[in-house]
Amino acid sequence: MKQQIIQLIKKNKKFFLIVKALRFLQTSSLTKIDGSKKKYPKVIQLPITYNCNSKCVMCNIWQMDHSGEATVEEFAKFMQDDIFKEVEAVGINGGEPSLVPNLYEYADEILKLPSLKSLNIISHGFSPKPLFKQVEKIYASCKEKGINFHIAISLDGVGEIHNTVRGIGYAFDKTSATIDEIIKNQDKYCDSYDIGCTIVTQNIDYLMELDTYAKSKNYNIKYRMGIDNKRIESDKLRDQYSVIYSPLKQSAIEFFHYQISQTKDLGNKFKYYSIFSWLNSGKPKRLLGCAWKDEGITLDARGELYYCAVASESIGSLRKTDGEKIFFDDKNIEYRKSIIKNSCDGCIHDYNGQAEVNNVWVFLKSILTNRLAMKIYELKVRFL
Ligand code: SF4
Repeated sequence: MKQQIIQLIKKNKKFFLIVKALRFLQTSSLTKIDGSKKKYPKVIQLPITYNCNSKCVMCNIWQMDHSGEATVEEFAKFMQDDIFKEVEAVGINGGEPSLVPNLYEYADEILKLPSLKSLNIISHGFSPKPLFKQVEKIYASCKEKGINFHIAISLDGVGEIHNTVRGIGYAFDKTSATIDEIIKNQDKYCDSYDIGCTIVTQNIDYLMELDTYAKSKNYNIKYRMGIDNKRIESDKLRDQYSVIYSPLKQSAIEFFHYQISQTKDLGNKFKYYSIFSWLNSGKPKRLLGCAWKDEGITLDARGELYYCAVASESIGSLRKTDGEKIFFDDKNIEYRKSIIKNSCDGCIHDYNGQAEVNNVWVFLKSILTNRLAMKIYELKVRFL
């Protein structure tokens, strides 16, 4: 019966769109998120190491010190901290996670989190041997525990463009071979995958080439802007990579406008619309939600805690104090409120989270207005 109803709704395209839009509205937040609520985090962003063998133009992590990172035994203690008891999703990033030789042992500790539902890993994909060795083991453990495992691989251009962005001459050949292997043997490595492209001055003029390439290979590719990010010190490299503060911004605006029209998924459409309108506005406002406003926590390889990676300084260390004391500390909560008040509208990182209902409405209204304008245009062409 349920299936028949779904089929019936799908046949009626307009009705299907309305249902999708209503469901999308339903997931939004009715109240403004100001960071004052003391809720246990649901998501951890987890840079498992600062070690990296890439030399990306938009990231300084490869020049940063990666000594003193937690052993598996110490990391196991971090994971047992009560602050993580309601965490449902963990995203492992770095540095380059596959450079941690016993990454799967760290993952095993993450998989002990009592409320965990999904694990995500981001890799540059050009060290395939260690990556596949680790993700095969991690995926096997995830399957045993019924936890969803997702792999994200970074690809910023075709051929030399990707090599230039990553600062490594062989990056494209290796990364594209890694992506092809994941697609070919996905059941060995993960439940799902996607490809992420970071837009910087070095690839902005070549995005259509990448998009066409990705379509020809059937890649699930997503685009984000390269932005200032304190954790990876990209704020110090702005002049070297940033499109946002350069005349090239117009190309990014046009590219995201194109992506809005190409994307079928309503969530991605909203994301691209939010980036487009942010870039296009004299007074940028963040329409996208962000879990790190009040549902996320960042834990780094040395036990330092942050609210978000983009704007937050360290708020304390699990090596010295327990997580609840740090995360719910009144002074720190005031600091989180100040991040939301002063930084979020200026941040267009593509993090997801509950968007505010009025922001979702702005987006839906724009889609409806555009559709109506197209209909009027079609009528004019037919009758005038
Ligand atoms: S600054 Fe960006 S990443 Fe940080 S909480 Fe705000 S929107 Fe999220």
